[in-house]
Amino acid sequence: MSRQSITWSLQQILRLARAPRRLSWAVRRRLRSLDTRPIRTDKGEVLRTSRGGLKRLQAAPDVLCRAPWVSLDFRMDGSVGFCNHGAYLIGNATTDSLLEMWRGPRARQLREMFRRYEIPDAACAHCAHQLRLGQPEGTFAVSHFGSWDMQPDRGGEAFPRTLIFRLTNVCNLRCMMCNGAIRVVSRSDVEHRLPPRASREHDEFRLCDGCDRVYWKGSHYARLRALVQRLFPDPSDES
Ligand code: SF4
Repeated sequence: MSRQSITWSLQQILRLARAPRRLSWAVRRRLRSLDTRPIRTDKGEVLRTSRGGLKRLQAAPDVLCRAPWVSLDFRMDGSVGFCNHGAYLIGNATTDSLLEMWRGPRARQLREMFRRYEIPDAACAHCAHQLRLGQPEGTFAVSHFGSWDMQPDRGGEAFPRTLIFRLTNVCNLRCMMCNGAIRVVSRSDVEHRLPPRASREHDEFRLCDGCDRVYWKGSHYARLRALVQRLFPDPSDES
């Protein structure tokens, strides 16, 4: 085999090896050209205009995120938003009716923003961050809400189709020492800090997020409870 034919053969092999890459690059360029819709934050920053948005566009062709059309998210304090990744609130279930919140000005405002492909940067921080990284497929808007159908009637606002209730181990008590929030913790979380007797006699423990103090229903709790019962006797106990 001549030197020339060896060189030619090698060139052909190299061409074939590069072909798939060239093809995928061409496909990628085509896909990029399809996706030209800018996404803006409420501060006017353009987050993503190129290929990364394609997947999201396919998932939700009309709006940036479908959550405000399909979902309601209830938090422990009664405040209500659209998803458990966002901080955008539309009211409070302890004071507002669901319909007022669902059709209220705050809800309509977010829907309008999503129709314009705008995202509230602080309230939807998770999704804005993913878009900023050029990873629209990593947003909760796509992974969780992208597959929900928009309801065609009345602008898709007739009623929510999924309800999210957030549970938390934070209880409604406050720390006696620092007034911090207290949450229920398991024995294994605090066992190394318990006196032997408390560890032996108790199974429920709470921890202050403010000062890191551990609580359990010890003798002080029992004495206080007896005092309250003496001062405010339960009439049903006398019968
Ligand atoms: S954009 Fe993201 S954070 Fe905002 S409502 Fe949609 S899913 Fe939730």
